[in-house]
Amino acid sequence: MKTYDCIVLGFGGVGSAALRYAALHGWNVLGIDRFGPAHDKGSSHGRTRVFRKAYFEHPDYVPILMESAELWDELNQRYRTKPSIKQLMHQTGVLAIGLPDSKVVQGVLQSSKQFDLPHEKFTAADIKQRLPIFNLRDDHVGVFEPESGYLLVEQCVTAMVSQALKHGAEIQSDTVAQRWNVSASGLVTVHTDRGEFQAERLIIAAGAWTRDLLPFLQDDLTVLRKQQHWYQLDRVDQKQVNDFPVFLFDQPDGHLYYGVPETDYLGMKVCRHSGGQEVPNPTTIDRSLDSDELAAVESFMDQRLIFGRKRLVHHSICMYTATTDGHFLVDRVPDHDNVVFAAGLSGHGFKMAPSIGKRLVGMLAGDRRPEFEFLRLRAP
Ligand SMILES: Cc1cc2nc3c(=O)[nH]c(=O)nc-3n(C[C@H](O)[C@H](O)[C@H](O)COP(=O)(O)OP(=O)(O)OC[C@H]3O[C@@H](n4cnc5c(N)ncnc54)[C@H](O)[C@@H]3O)c2cc1C
Repeated sequence: MKTYDCIVLGFGGVGSAALRYAALHGWNVLGIDRFGPAHDKGSSHGRTRVFRKAYFEHPDYVPILMESAELWDELNQRYRTKPSIKQLMHQTGVLAIGLPDSKVVQGVLQSSKQFDLPHEKFTAADIKQRLPIFNLRDDHVGVFEPESGYLLVEQCVTAMVSQALKHGAEIQSDTVAQRWNVSASGLVTVHTDRGEFQAERLIIAAGAWTRDLLPFLQDDLTVLRKQQHWYQLDRVDQKQVNDFPVFLFDQPDGHLYYGVPETDYLGMKVCRHSGGQEVPNPTTIDRSLDSDELAAVESFMDQRLIFGRKRLVHHSICMYTATTDGHFLVDRVPDHDNVVFAAGLSGHGFKMAPSIGKRLVGMLAGDRRPEFEFLRLRAP
């Protein structure tokens, strides 16, 4: 049996990045996925992912975000060899709206200040004048981050996988890893429904299925069902829909909504970031339209956006894998120095996929990166 230098289990958002950096490192690497590159059954689909640097979740992510912006740019340059290939990142700016003391507004301001990130503060009147689509309370405020925007998610995964292949990686799609083990000599064997594969090292990036492969994380991860919706809006000035920033809207009831401008005929994407029903088994998740989540999003739209009539054109079901504190887990598997993993990206990790993938490879190659320390396994 061939022995690879490294196997990457799952080549979705993070795994495709790890696959690429493992190949760039010169390793003979195999990616294994239960589906294929850029599928719609996990957590990395739905046309767009928001990219922000002024991170309300925690300022410690900012150095990782700065690196990720550079890595996306570098990938874009290598992948986009002709103008017909769309850019991976679209810098529309991101506008965070809420009450002055809201978690999002306060968090964006704190990260912007701490890292001197370009941003502009807006009153409700400023926002209404520039973006009349918003229906705001007089005490709403906004923070605009001009250097952020959105990524084309499936295209990013495709780009990372194709660049990995270009540098010699192999992939094995439609293959389910059932378990893995490490021999006394340190060799890893991955047992799949298509046979066994061996490697010196293993990277696990299995998203919503992580608990099957890393049972010690069973109590630390919760898989949540999330719904993405796309709307065509009537009687909205075209400029407002097309030439529009990404927005985050922190509602006083504690729910956070976001919107992404039109990328194609499906129209504007509007979703709720908070909430979500627990998913016992990601493989058998119900992908039909959930009327409660839809009603919450439409009630937000009716309250906070101004338009004539809205038409739901498309919906898609995705999964968040949430940790108890909302921060990722990026670490070594206890007792196995040659097995590393990233898990629990908690609905906000795609934007950092290249950095996380690079970090996973770096951990196996012996690099030390202090900026990832806060994402290690937490003490029980
Ligand atoms: C609706 C929604 C909106 C989001 N919005 C944003 C956003 O705006 N910005 C942002 O940064 N992040 C966002 N996120 C979060 C982000 O998209 C995810 O955190 C990230 O894409 C997860 O990547 P992953 O590699 O962990 O999982 P995935 O991309 O799902 O990859 C896991 C892969 O492992 C494979 N796999 C699993 N088990 C096995 C097995 N046993 N054998 C073989 N293969 C296996 C799966 O098939 C899959 O391809 C959002 C997520 C969702 C669901």
